[in-house]
Amino acid sequence: MTVQTKPPPITCAAVVACVLGCNDLPELRYETEHLRIGTASDGLLCQGNLDHYERLITTLEQQLGTSVRTPIHVYLWDESRFFPDSGWCDDSLIGCYRQGAVYADFISIEHELVHAVVDTFATPTPFWSEGAAMALGSSRTFFGETSPVDNLDLHASPQLDYRPAGHFSRWLLETHGLELYRELLRARGSSREAFERTYDMTMEEAQELYFAEAPHAYGALNTCDHPDLPQTGDLQWSETIEIDCAAPNVWGTSQVIGALRVLTVTERGFYELTTTEQEGAIIPCFDEDLEHPVLVGDPNYGDVPPASGGFLQVFTGDRGKSVLELVPGRYELSIAHEGHETRTAALTVRAATGPIPQTPESAG
Ligand SMILES: [Zn+2]
Repeated sequence: MTVQTKPPPITCAAVVACVLGCNDLPELRYETEHLRIGTASDGLLCQGNLDHYERLITTLEQQLGTSVRTPIHVYLWDESRFFPDSGWCDDSLIGCYRQGAVYADFISIEHELVHAVVDTFATPTPFWSEGAAMALGSSRTFFGETSPVDNLDLHASPQLDYRPAGHFSRWLLETHGLELYRELLRARGSSREAFERTYDMTMEEAQELYFAEAPHAYGALNTCDHPDLPQTGDLQWSETIEIDCAAPNVWGTSQVIGALRVLTVTERGFYELTTTEQEGAIIPCFDEDLEHPVLVGDPNYGDVPPASGGFLQVFTGDRGKSVLELVPGRYELSIAHEGHETRTAALTVRAATGPIPQTPESAG
């Protein structure tokens, strides 16, 4: 349901929304240098979330050569069903940025924060605006089903294909640098006019180069922004972590609390991953560009392959796999438990002699 094309200023918006039977805006509960964050429930966020979002803003300020002078208001829900019915976001299913305020869930918040930082110096068309949010976010970009030229004049979700918008923007950043890209975002006119004025070539010429040059996927510009798991010996890493919501680098949602660490593997081999926490998982960082799609199961990449959209392997519990073959690269380790109670947890990775032998039952 969309009842208004542009929300009124925030102070009035809550009243309007309630009259219309919509949801109240969450109460502002957290404050960082650049952010004022409202959440529907108390204790939704931990210090690690706050520090991460704040660092993301600082990184984006540097990348885009701008500064956030007025704190960005962020309204955060931990379920995404809210948005289509809310009246806050016209037609976005996952969140939006409107006039100084982000309305998001845990999945969309980083994308929307890019919009908020871009808004400090430019108001690009949807193709360039969504392209920037995809290209500067914390995921890989890759080719879409449609071409950039086909999307130039489309409005945002659901008409615009975000993938080619993001991948083409990222290709521009890689091949022509940030300075021109900032000019592009600031340029006036249609998507095509803004581009052709800034880059001195037609969109068709650029698209031909893009299809010839861009890899299947670019690594993310902002990825695995967490502390390293300390190395404690030859091919061994270990740490005892205080999982306390108020401690730095501890993350939370309304359901779980946990910590994230980065493991850097330099030698291919089998590694045993253990934790005293309820859940442990490992995913590859989005560091490298991928010339071609990486298929899960490709023996060249071990048990945690750098698949385009990510690949998560649990190493605890019945369905987990505690001995994994890992290839050189950076990985993100997460450990977590349900609820918000403070616990101390050990996390250890060490070289193992080989995979755990599979019995016929477990292999089947
Ligand atoms: Zn967006």
